[in-house]
Amino acid sequence: MYIIGLEGTAHTLGIGILDEKGTVLANLMKTYRPKEGIHPREAANHHAKEFLPSLEEAFSTAGIDRDDIGLVAFSQGPGLGPCLRTVATGARALSLSLKVPLIGVNHCIAHIEIGRLTTDCDDPVLLYASGGNTQVIAFTRGRYRVFGETLDIGIGNMLDKFGRVHNIPFPGGPVIEKRAMKSDELIDLPYSVKGMDVSFSGILTAASNSKAPLNDLCFSLQETTFAMLTEVTERALAHTGKDEVLLGGGVVRNDRLREMVEIMAEERGAKAYAPPGPLCVDNGAMIGWTGYVMHEAGLKTPIAKSGVMQNFRTDEVDITWRR
Ligand code: AMP
Ligand code: MG
Repeated sequence: MYIIGLEGTAHTLGIGILDEKGTVLANLMKTYRPKEGIHPREAANHHAKEFLPSLEEAFSTAGIDRDDIGLVAFSQGPGLGPCLRTVATGARALSLSLKVPLIGVNHCIAHIEIGRLTTDCDDPVLLYASGGNTQVIAFTRGRYRVFGETLDIGIGNMLDKFGRVHNIPFPGGPVIEKRAMKSDELIDLPYSVKGMDVSFSGILTAASNSKAPLNDLCFSLQETTFAMLTEVTERALAHTGKDEVLLGGGVVRNDRLREMVEIMAEERGAKAYAPPGPLCVDNGAMIGWTGYVMHEAGLKTPIAKSGVMQNFRTDEVDITWRR
C-alpha cells in the first residue's frame, strides 16, 4: 500500500507519497509567495490552482499509479481556514474517488512523527518554530503536550514582519540570518519569557522602531529570540527528564538557532536532531506518514468528521499509537 499526504495549513501546498516503511517516493511543495504577508484567500486560490497538476506530478515522480494508493491523509489543522478547506476538499474528493480511507492529521504532531521516523530520536522534546506556530511539545501521559508556546505571533511571522518594515522581501528569515552574520553588536531588546511561554510582539515593535544599523538589529533579534526559545526548550527537557531535542518548522533552518539548541543540549548531556531540510518545513510526506501511523492504530476520519479545525490543538489528540 502507498499513502498520499496532503498539506495545506498555510502558504505551502504539499503532496507527499510514501510506502508503508516510510520511504518517501515524492514530496512536492508548491509555495505561494506573496510580496508582503500571506493573504489567506489568495494562498487558498494558489493551492486550488496547483492541486491537480501537482497531484499528477507527484504520481509521476513516485512512479506509481493512483490506484496503488491505500490511504489519503490531510492536514486538518491548525492553520488558515481557506487554505485548510481547499486542501481538505481535495483530500475528500481523492479518498471518495479512490474508495480508500481518509485520515485527518494534526499538523504539529506530524512535525514530531516525521522526526521520529527520519532521525535517531525516539521520545524528543520538539521545538517547533515556524511562520505561524511556535511551540515546545513533548509526549507525556498519552498526549503530545504543549509545555510552552508563543502568546502572540509565531517567531517566523515576527521575522517576516520585521523584514517588511525594512524592505526585506518575504520570507524575511533567511535574509535576516545573512545580515546577522555581519554583526556582533548586541542591541538591548525586550527578552520576553513568561513562565514557559514566549511573546514576540513587543520585541517586534522595539526592533521595528529602532534606528540602529540593520545588521545589528538582525543579529540582536536572532540572539534575543533564539535564546528565549532555547531557554524554554531546556526547561521542558529538565521538567520531563527527556534527553532528546527535535527541531521542526521553517525557522529551524537557521544555523544560529540550531547552534544554540545544540550547545544547550550538549551541556546537559542531551542530543539535538533535525529531519532533512524538505521534511523539516511544511510538507505532505510528514502528513502522509503520520496518517499512516494513525491508520495502523485503527484510526480513520469519516467524511462527516473531516471538517477542518483552524485552532486544532496539539494536545487534543489521543496518541493511541504510542504507549
Ligand atoms: P514554515 O511556516 O514552517 O513554512 O516556515 C516559514 C518561516 O520560516 C518563515 O517565517 C521564514 O521567514 C522562516 N525561515 C525560513 N528560513 C529561515 C532562516 N534561515 N532563518 C530564520 N527563519 C527562516
Ligand atoms: Mg509547520
